[in-house]
Amino acid sequence: MQKRISILGATGSIGRSTLDIVAAFPERFRVVALSAAQDSAGLAELALKFRPNLVAIADASKAEDLKARLHGSAIEVVSGPSAAIDAARVEADFTMAAIVGFAGLAPTLEAVKSGRSIGLANKECLVAAGELFMATARQHGAHILPVDSEHNAAFQLLMGVSPEAIKTLTLTASGGPFHAFTAQQLETVTAEQAVRHPIWSMGQKISVDSATLMNKGLELIEAHHLFAIAPDQLDVIVHPQSVVHAMLSLNDGSVLSHQAPPDMRGPIAFCMGWPDRLAPDIPKLNFTELGKLEFFQPDRKKFRCLALAEAAMQAGAMAPTILNAANEVAVAAFLSQSIGFLQIAEIVEASLDHWAGNVEFSAVPTTLAEIIALDEMFRAYASDILAKKA
Ligand code: NAD
Ligand code: MG
Repeated sequence: MQKRISILGATGSIGRSTLDIVAAFPERFRVVALSAAQDSAGLAELALKFRPNLVAIADASKAEDLKARLHGSAIEVVSGPSAAIDAARVEADFTMAAIVGFAGLAPTLEAVKSGRSIGLANKECLVAAGELFMATARQHGAHILPVDSEHNAAFQLLMGVSPEAIKTLTLTASGGPFHAFTAQQLETVTAEQAVRHPIWSMGQKISVDSATLMNKGLELIEAHHLFAIAPDQLDVIVHPQSVVHAMLSLNDGSVLSHQAPPDMRGPIAFCMGWPDRLAPDIPKLNFTELGKLEFFQPDRKKFRCLALAEAAMQAGAMAPTILNAANEVAVAAFLSQSIGFLQIAEIVEASLDHWAGNVEFSAVPTTLAEIIALDEMFRAYASDILAKKA
């Protein structure tokens, strides 16, 4: 039986790697829906190769171009703000949730509601709406399979370990391109430098998050919700080689760790094949060639985004939703060269302070509509700070 696959965010880094796995195992997978934000040419090319029933493009002004490119193919085209939700509604056995940012929340939740298996790459879903997301998955019996390499590693480590046996779960961080930079050097780093990651080739937003270490903070919150592990049992360690992805310390002194080459096709294939194990074309790790594996404490003074995310995780309530909204606005501003690298943390911190010091924010949002409203309110707040800085 072929698994029917839909991909939300098909034209991105994770989306394309997912299609690499489809292409490698054509007998196992069939693509039924693909979505993208605005790259009509890229989406059309993928659609003509993989022949889904439906393609969805968020930018309605690109719909005509997409239709023209697919003329005569019998592939249905939908467009506009709810197009990704339409793609999520197409009947499938597995959805890869690979839209970047808060924009992925509503379509991914729609896929979760079908009760199918979800390969979850979009970590912002769990940061902005962790309780709602996991409760919806439980209610509809959807398996959430983590694509993020550290969480995929943890998922594998946790198989067969009872929750009472766990002391801590440690996620590794590569340290990003600025690991060895001084605080002074960080003042002048550019967006171009930030997106040039030493190990992983990824979308722009997550590359900047990796450079600020916000990515690892988002991942702690992601792990907290995925595995129901308490914040004080979660930890981060810098490991520049990115070979060890997660470590599970148990109460009996054992430490289980997961190693794999830093290649996202590994975790992606794990999720797509689950519960079977596929054999994607990934070279075997050669430890003697690697020679050494290094581990460092992260520097939370230099990379303040990590400390801010940890504080937001501890605070719970609305804090992670606000952290995420402010970070998305700040990262976009950094990428468009409106602010410097260190101002990303400043904007996130000011947004969290605004929340903490304001009694009007006492009711924790629980529904999708309430979470969207909170996200919008704090995007506006962060944009105001930006406007004042300009
Ligand atoms: P990317 O920027 O390469 O791709 C993002 C995709 O989302 C594109 O297809 C884009 O068209 C689509 N998209 C963006 N905004 C949209 C919108 N408003 N509506 C509909 N579609 C939209 O990003 P990526 O690197 O593939 O990352 C995707 C997600 O996976 C992120 O949440 C990221 O944190 C997570 N992730 C990525 C990696 C990686 O190696 N790239 C690893 C772990 C987790
Ligand atoms: Mg990761």
